[in-house]
Parts: sequence; structure tokens; C-alpha cells
Amino acid sequence: MRPPGARSVVMELDEADGLDGAGVPGGEFIAEELNVQVIPQADDEFTCYSCFLVRHRSQIARQQGSHAYCTDCEG
Ligand SMILES: [Zn+2]
Repeated sequence: MRPPGARSVVMELDEADGLDGAGVPGGEFIAEELNVQVIPQADDEFTCYSCFLVRHRSQIARQQGSHAYCTDCEG
């Protein structure tokens, strides 16, 4: 169930070491929500082209052209 009108940002808290000034509304992370919204990324972050989560560049498992895939999606 998704909260009505809410913007949901899915992040894995143990991997989120750049939370300062991330501009996440509400300040609450919903770990099991699949309604992912693409948010602007910092220079040291990328958006996984499979799950569309913004992750740190150290999480890139595969890069294909301008598309990167995170370690979770690539195993
Ligand atoms: Zn992914």
C-alpha cells in the first residue's frame, strides 16, 4: 500500500553515507516501498538503470554506455 500523494524514496540505510543535505522530504525512509522516484544525483552517485535507486558510485556493478547497474541488481 502506498501513502496517498506521498513522495517515496527508497534507500538502504546502511549504504547511505551521504545523507546530509540529500533533500529527502519527510525525513522518513520507507524500505519496502517499490514506488521509486528518480531524484537528482550528486557527482559521486549514480542511478541504477534497473531498480532506479540512487547509489554511491562504489555500488556500480556494471556499466553499459550511460547506464549503470548496482550490485544488488547484478548480484
Ligand atoms: Zn539496481
